[in-house]
Amino acid sequence: MRNVAIPLAIADMEQIYEVLKRYFGYDAFRPMQEEVIRHILGRKDALVLMPTGGGKSLCFQIPALMMEGTAVVISPLISLMKDQVDMLRNNGIEAAALNSSLDSRGHMEVRGQCRNGRLKLLYLSPERLQADLEWIRTHMKVSLFVVDEAHCISAWGHDFRPEYTQLGNLHELFPGVPVAAFTATADKVTREDIVVQLHMQEARLFVGSFDRPNLSLSVVAGCSAKDKQKMILDIIHRHDGESGIIYCMTRKTTEELSSALKLKGVPCACYHAGMDAEQRRMVQNDFRCDRIQVVCATVAFGMGIDKQDVRFVVHYNLPGSIENYYQEIGRGGRDGMPCETVLFYNLQDLVMRRRFAEESAQQELNRQKLGQMQDYAEANVCRRRILLNYFGERSETDCRNCDVCENPPARFDGSELVQKMLSVLVRTGESVGSTAAIDILTRVSSQLIKRKGFDKIKTFGAGAEISREDWKSYLMQMIHLGYVEVDVLHFRRLKVTTLGEDVLYGRKKAELSVIDRRDFKVPRKKPTMEIPYDDEDRSLFEALRALRLTLAREEKMPAYIILSDKCLHSLASRRPSTLAEFGECYGIGEAKTQKYGAKILEIIAAAGVDTSDTCGAAETSAPKPESYMERQKLLHLNSAKSRTSLPDVAW
Ligand code: ADP
Ligand code: ZN
Repeated sequence: MRNVAIPLAIADMEQIYEVLKRYFGYDAFRPMQEEVIRHILGRKDALVLMPTGGGKSLCFQIPALMMEGTAVVISPLISLMKDQVDMLRNNGIEAAALNSSLDSRGHMEVRGQCRNGRLKLLYLSPERLQADLEWIRTHMKVSLFVVDEAHCISAWGHDFRPEYTQLGNLHELFPGVPVAAFTATADKVTREDIVVQLHMQEARLFVGSFDRPNLSLSVVAGCSAKDKQKMILDIIHRHDGESGIIYCMTRKTTEELSSALKLKGVPCACYHAGMDAEQRRMVQNDFRCDRIQVVCATVAFGMGIDKQDVRFVVHYNLPGSIENYYQEIGRGGRDGMPCETVLFYNLQDLVMRRRFAEESAQQELNRQKLGQMQDYAEANVCRRRILLNYFGERSETDCRNCDVCENPPARFDGSELVQKMLSVLVRTGESVGSTAAIDILTRVSSQLIKRKGFDKIKTFGAGAEISREDWKSYLMQMIHLGYVEVDVLHFRRLKVTTLGEDVLYGRKKAELSVIDRRDFKVPRKKPTMEIPYDDEDRSLFEALRALRLTLAREEKMPAYIILSDKCLHSLASRRPSTLAEFGECYGIGEAKTQKYGAKILEIIAAAGVDTSDTCGAAETSAPKPESYMERQKLLHLNSAKSRTSLPDVAW
């Protein structure tokens, strides 16, 4: 019996911290989690927007544990359900999924669990829910409905699924049962649509910060294919034993790159929509279970992946939009530990992307989005500020975890330039776009300017000492830094933000970067990331990682479900010597203490004996961890006989 049954007698809201520690092994909530949990426990509807890796699951899993009955979670992807259920069960929580991957016996079993009321969470696809609605109504006590990936319900969203629209009747069929919807991507229109479509009542909207501070950001411009490959190998080597994704624009590139890396001994595979479903499933699975380290993929890869410990994400080519780029790098570092992201950018990619945009159905929109992506890649202000401002989150400080922050360009007090630009915008009633604004500043009387009388305003010609080209570049910085906003829905008119007003009225200063017209930047070294556990014993960490791999193989589960990277770091730095101390470490709840405590304490004790002998010669018997590649090869060889041959992922 894998599950550790822990009796549940928690009715008091104040006990949410106890539940957090006991089942998940965490001490504190992330921003907004507690508010959402309290709101749902008050039996009210909620729509929650948080980025990938922000910690949405906990927001419904804790209420599910504390409420009477079973929470029904509607989720579009079977592969994600499995991961979530495995993770919950490994934490000693009764959870199951009903979907087409079960045989009839499995079905019977899950239905039995549903009926006896012990199940705290049941995962279903929307189709399954429709088919089983009546059965659920008569046989189960539902505590809560959770709609995961809720943007799928809206035709405005980017991933519309007609099956989701059936979910509107839940409130009528299950009066009094709250409905909580979760998504990582929803603009304003989609948000409103979700609330309407789900017939939400007194719904509260929770919008979390989209900042992902653990993702380092960098752009490397102007590299040849050969340079890129060399740099990618460097990245892979400095992430020995850690997983990574390399996004490529075309199927052919994924195949070529993957073959090249395999030749260099990297356990790697390609993934694209041209492969058949079975092949793709195998690659996904091998990646989840760390049998391959790197996947070279087109954008088709990712939706069904919940892997928590992706430590680097590379864009081999320029993405088509900032939205896509952010979503793709967002697949890294979900466990909150550092993840390195590198974007390669060169002109050939840009030309190719432009062609795609021209050939697409929404030419203008796609051209515009590509333009913004290009601006990002060429920018010399903090990249995180650009991203956050792009997503409408005002950000006033540099992040210190991007290539620009690490290697900052020369800066100057640009308050006066910003004031000149903003004053033009204010004096024209925020009715002009960038061309007209720069015309006014540089004293160009175009037709439009004369017609509107803008050549009479006080700031006409106020910036004539600066070239148009430089103004363009400064304006771009002002947009990136959040002083100016582009109204994309209304002719790309420029608007002054509240942060901009502060500069305009002299309440704050604005720093601008000196313009750097070098076409291509010098490739940079690995960004410096803060390492949260720098006092850890590195060889102990490696020993724990090896043990985790063995456990993962035994239990046939991905390593990140057994114990997270952060948890291993916490163990390697705190070196607990009793079960009680073990239970205090990050991410260790009661179930994991029971399951893994003894084995891990043994390893820590053994490591302690070896390293305490500081004066002794090198006769230490500590198991020296082999390199990841060697370990993988051994495992692969051992399991090769039992596994079907997998030419594409062998190395
Ligand atoms: P999302 O569904 O929003 O993409 P998850 O729910 O998968 O994110 O959470 C991402 C990771 O963060 C998981 O490994 C989860 O265990 C961890 N996590 C969530 N909440 C907390 C917390 N309060 N403290 C520490 N880790 C947390
Ligand atoms: Zn930065």
